[in-house]
Amino acid sequence: MPSMSAPSTTSLHNGDPVVAWDCVDTVLLDMDGTLLDLAFDNYFWTEFIPAHYAQVRGMREKDAREALLDRYRSIEGRLAWYCIDHWSEALDLDIRALKRTQRHRVCYLPGATDFLAWLRETGKRVLLVTNAHPYTLALKVAETGLDAHVHDMVSSHNFLAPKETRLFWHRFHAGEPFDPSRTVLIEDSLPVLQAATEFGLASTVAIRRPDSRRPPRQIDGYPSVDGVRELLNPAQAAHPPVAAASCNS
Ligand SMILES: [Mg+2]
Repeated sequence: MPSMSAPSTTSLHNGDPVVAWDCVDTVLLDMDGTLLDLAFDNYFWTEFIPAHYAQVRGMREKDAREALLDRYRSIEGRLAWYCIDHWSEALDLDIRALKRTQRHRVCYLPGATDFLAWLRETGKRVLLVTNAHPYTLALKVAETGLDAHVHDMVSSHNFLAPKETRLFWHRFHAGEPFDPSRTVLIEDSLPVLQAATEFGLASTVAIRRPDSRRPPRQIDGYPSVDGVRELLNPAQAAHPPVAAASCNS
């Protein structure tokens, strides 16, 4: 699902590298809006579904969009918001079938595959951690081959709690014993970054431009980049490596 929240707002670079890679063993990557273009989800939920819903119900498209956006906002950030079975029932539409008709629109954000290839070369453990429903995850993996770039993939639906909750992070960590002090989360959702920080993750990066069709957001409170390709910025690579003694472990 796309974010219904108003964008918040300035990055924190201060000349330091966004990620102290020498201090990181495990990389947790969000999918939609971090690796894959949120343009797909924004189009699907705020244009395609309202148009289809309006046609089925004999409504004006504008009215259908307003009504659906209100319904999306009412449960934003809860697991049901990400659940295509919830929306199939709530809207009386076959969301799985409708998603399949639009799957050709699923694509990587600029530079994401280069970033993933580089990450694999570093030898770090790389995990995809998404709120996407397992069906949506499978459909997007089939379209992009994303599974080949990561060691494992996790849907929060399998933990019965969204990434916006500390409960998710505790349940996830129980089965995946990463060291929070040596783990980075790269993510476009600020509530998710907040929950992960409260759980104890030492390093986070916010994505300012999750949708290639929209301008970057300003982000307060987290190190941020427009997109993951900036994490491969040659200027950053040239920055002196962080001494091991300065790592939080
Ligand atoms: Mg996301």
